[in-house]
Amino acid sequence: MHALEIDQVTVRFRDGEGWTYALRDVSLNLALGEFLAVTGPSGSGKSTLLAVAGLLLTPTAGTVRLGGQDVTGDKANTRTDLRRSDIGFVFQQPHLLGSLTALEQLQMAARLDGDRSKATTEHAKELLNEVGLGSVMHKRPSALSGGQRQRVGIARALMGDPKLLLVDEPTSALDHERGVAIIDLLRNLTTERSLGTLVVTHDLGTLSPDDEVVRLVDGKLAVEQLTH
Ligand code: ADP
Ligand code: ADP
Repeated sequence: MHALEIDQVTVRFRDGEGWTYALRDVSLNLALGEFLAVTGPSGSGKSTLLAVAGLLLTPTAGTVRLGGQDVTGDKANTRTDLRRSDIGFVFQQPHLLGSLTALEQLQMAARLDGDRSKATTEHAKELLNEVGLGSVMHKRPSALSGGQRQRVGIARALMGDPKLLLVDEPTSALDHERGVAIIDLLRNLTTERSLGTLVVTHDLGTLSPDDEVVRLVDGKLAVEQLTH
């Protein structure tokens, strides 16, 4: 079973008289329990790939499947529902609310998704424990380190029990050691929760030699060999 299948996807944008191709005939499968890093220079199509995988952008050509189901032609509100139920997003900066504790950030996220159940709080606590924040769940962002704040963002992304986790440059605001710890955490969560995880990163030094890495160049995908 695949969390995500991207099949011969092309995305192009109008550019004056011509077109800019952000993705060219890109195919990529992500199984449940698979951790895949995507790298590539600026302008190579990484954000576009995340937008397509996150159902925020409909490709010009090609097919996108979530959990084996073709979602390419789905209407906007269906895509929004799928995003809430099946996809978690982790950003470069977690954009936490300054006045809320770590636990409240997760409760708020669930509420915005229409979930007001009591079980939510227990679920949030479990997730915070899972990402190593059990002892600081009642602290506000200003009392947390950068690594801890990013962990709150990761726990928040998992609140809806997504099958697909889309992660954009999670380590770029962190020092090397904390960056490595975040990647290790994401890799472990991928296995333990049977997620398909796609991580866009420039930070190849935070990856392990066993990690699967692909490289986008000019909208085209190639397999990358880690040399460290
Ligand atoms: P990356 O994330 O690797 O920097 P992007 O996916 O943002 O790359 O962009 C890939 C290419 O598509 C670039 O040439 C970019 O200028 C172009 N592009 C991206 N989004 C748009 C858009 N909304 N309109 C026009 N061109 C775009
Ligand atoms: P800091 O910026 O405080 O160094 P870290 O990201 O290194 O933040 O760690 C944040 C918290 O997560 C710490 O309390 C640490 O004990 C815990 N932690 C570190 N590594 C892991 C891990 N692999 N899995 C779960 N928890 C971890």
